[in-house]
Amino acid sequence: MGKKDKIIYLKSEEELEIIRVNGQILGKAHAEVAKLVEPGVTTKVLDKIAFEYIKDNSAKPSFLNYNGFPASLCISVNDVVVHGIPSNRELIDGDIVSVDCGVYKNGFHADSAYTYTVGEVQSDVLDLLKHTYRSLFKGIEQAKVGNRVGDVSFAVQNYAEIHRYGVVRELVGHGVGKYLHESPEVPNFGKRGNGPKLLEGMVIAIEPMITLGRRAVVQENDNWTIRTEDRRQAAHFEHTVVVRKNTAEILTTFQYIEEVLSRKNLVIV
Ligand code: MG
Ligand code: MG
Repeated sequence: MGKKDKIIYLKSEEELEIIRVNGQILGKAHAEVAKLVEPGVTTKVLDKIAFEYIKDNSAKPSFLNYNGFPASLCISVNDVVVHGIPSNRELIDGDIVSVDCGVYKNGFHADSAYTYTVGEVQSDVLDLLKHTYRSLFKGIEQAKVGNRVGDVSFAVQNYAEIHRYGVVRELVGHGVGKYLHESPEVPNFGKRGNGPKLLEGMVIAIEPMITLGRRAVVQENDNWTIRTEDRRQAAHFEHTVVVRKNTAEILTTFQYIEEVLSRKNLVIV
C-alpha cells in the first residue's frame, strides 16, 4: 500500500545515518508507550504519548494521516493483527497489545513494532509472542548480500510453522526510505532463493504477523482494522534493517523498550 513505484532504492551511508537516528527516536517513543502498558490504560492514551514524544523530537509520526489513518500508532489488541485504531478501549488483564509506529525526520522513515503482555497472559499466548519475536530475528539473519527476499520470507515462515502457528499472508514487510512503504515487498512466507536479490544498502522492514490459530484474516468495517477470522490472538514484531555483506544491521531498536520491560519484570524473550 502506498508504494511509490517498483524501484528499489539503495541508501547511502549518510541516508542510513538519518534512518538510524530516526530509529533511536522511534525506539524511545516505543519505550514511553511501554511504560504505560498496563490494565486500565486506554489505547488512545498510548497514542497520545507517542505523538507527543515524536513531536518533541522535531519528528513526525509516519502513520498519522497516511492514507487517512487517524493516529500516530497502530494499536492492535488480541485478535487484531495490525492497523488497529487507538480508541477509548481500556487494556485489561490477559490482553496482548501490539504497537506499531513510524518516525519521519530529515526526509526518511523508520518503522518498528512490538507486542506487549498486559497483566497475566495465558502461557500459549505468551509462547506466541516469544516465537513471533524469534521469527523476526530468523528473518533478519537472512537479510544479507547474496541472499534474496525469499530467504528472509522462508526463514520467518519456517520458524513460525515449525511451532504450528499461522503466518498471515495478506500483509507484508516492505522497503523503507523516503516513503514509508517502498519496494520490495517482504512477505512472511516464501521460498528460499526466490524474489529480488538483496543488495548492500537496501533498507527493509521485516515484520512477521503470526497467529495462534488459523492464518485467515478479515478487515473490519472501519476499513483499517485487520483481525483473525477465528478471533484467536495474533502477534507482530518489526524492525527496519539495512542489508549488509555478512549480516543485516538493525536500524531501529528494542533496547529502550526492553529496559522498561526489564524494570517491570515483563521481558518476554
Ligand atoms: Mg510498522
Ligand atoms: Mg512496516
